[in-house]
Amino acid sequence: MAVCQSETEVAAALRYAHGKNTQVTVKSGGHSFEGFSSNNGGLMVDLSGMKTMTYDSKQKTLKAQPGCKLGDVGKLLFPKGRLLPSGSCAGVGLAGLTLGGGYGLFARKYGLTCDHLIGVRMVDGQGNVHDSDQQPDLLKVCRGGGNGNFGIITELRFRTVPAPKSFSSKRIRFRNLTPEKVGDLAKLWFKATDGLPGDVFSAFVLNGTQLTVLITFFEPASRQVVETHFGPMAKDAWKSEPVHVAPTERAIRRYYGRSGPLPFKNASAGYYKSHADIASVIPRIAEQVADVSGTVWQINTLGGRINSHDFAKESVYPHRSYPWLGEIQAYWDRESRATKCIENVRAVQKILLGAGINKHYRNYPDIEFKDWERSYYGDESLKMIRQMKQRFDPADIIRHPQSIRLES
Ligand SMILES: Cc1cc2nc3c(=O)[nH]c(=O)nc-3n(C[C@H](O)[C@H](O)[C@H](O)COP(=O)(O)OP(=O)(O)OC[C@H]3O[C@@H](n4cnc5c(N)ncnc54)[C@H](O)[C@@H]3O)c2cc1C
Repeated sequence: MAVCQSETEVAAALRYAHGKNTQVTVKSGGHSFEGFSSNNGGLMVDLSGMKTMTYDSKQKTLKAQPGCKLGDVGKLLFPKGRLLPSGSCAGVGLAGLTLGGGYGLFARKYGLTCDHLIGVRMVDGQGNVHDSDQQPDLLKVCRGGGNGNFGIITELRFRTVPAPKSFSSKRIRFRNLTPEKVGDLAKLWFKATDGLPGDVFSAFVLNGTQLTVLITFFEPASRQVVETHFGPMAKDAWKSEPVHVAPTERAIRRYYGRSGPLPFKNASAGYYKSHADIASVIPRIAEQVADVSGTVWQINTLGGRINSHDFAKESVYPHRSYPWLGEIQAYWDRESRATKCIENVRAVQKILLGAGINKHYRNYPDIEFKDWERSYYGDESLKMIRQMKQRFDPADIIRHPQSIRLES
């Protein structure tokens, strides 16, 4: 393992690995679902100690080393009245999240984390250092296609956006659902989340036979919209909580997640264009989710500014036109339950694949996706990332089980 404190040390590690023709994987926040930051027998370049961040108050930009985590970024920016749209869990690495896209509660209003990336420094597979200011195509490919594929990012530069003063959330909860009832509620949820204002985010979280619908927003006018859109769902609920309003930084902490290890299998459960994409299989998915405790199927809203043409032409993140993203999760407390939980995830993935769902989020990898390069990137982006691979890492030193291959 090469525990690096500076770009010079990263370059030295890569020169060493290149000389020995040794595989390199890169760890920033260490949150890869499939452990792509680790390897057996090669060299892990650990950047978790490179955590320096500076905020330029004139330009309102952030410069961050790759070991920074989302919680660190929030701590620096919120007191300055700024934010970087990103994910919600505090322990997730800024580098891995940004380089594969990065979405969260603010993405529908402002775009993905990678859409706010304005510059990177990178060490390539031979140990040479590059700055995207001199190579704009490098920046474009790092917006969605940069994680673990062709170089190690040693610095990320971002523009920031104003942080709203307050942040609102609401939960609608259901219990003891039958698969058919889940189907009915999903239909209502897709309808409710179609055409929402950009500041509104929602998640449909099915955990066993319980469903929680989370709704967040941060513009006062959206309160009425939320009541109108989600009213039909709330009628049938076990509990429809009142809207909770708090100062933004405090409100966001509710989504920071737990610290400490928790064994799990999480993966993308596909992008959806509409309810019709999965309507026929929702009851079967609900049945499968309820079959093994600890299984969770979640759908999050995307759309809004994520689907902006301007962002699309400056990045390789490919699936912008899909307004919904599914995630399948399984958690277990005892090792003896692991196989059963993983098999249940596999069963849900099989149902979705059978329904034709085959576009996936790169940051939610599943080692079992067969055509993973196309599923994550689509043909056009794949071609651009492959060109970077051929240019910056022709010896394929930087690689993990689902990194871009030199040849198709
Ligand atoms: C609890 C949890 C919550 C999450 N929440 C969200 C969310 O809200 N929104 C969202 O979009 N995603 C979310 N994710 C997914 C997250 O975006 C990915 O797991 C991401 O890859 C994590 O980055 P990392 O730096 O922590 O991980 P690492 O394991 O260090 O790296 C992940 C991948 O990025 C590559 N990589 C890391 N650093 C570099 C670098 N410096 N240069 C080049 N390649 C690099 C690695 O090769 C690896 O393939 C979540 C994940 C977890 C586990």
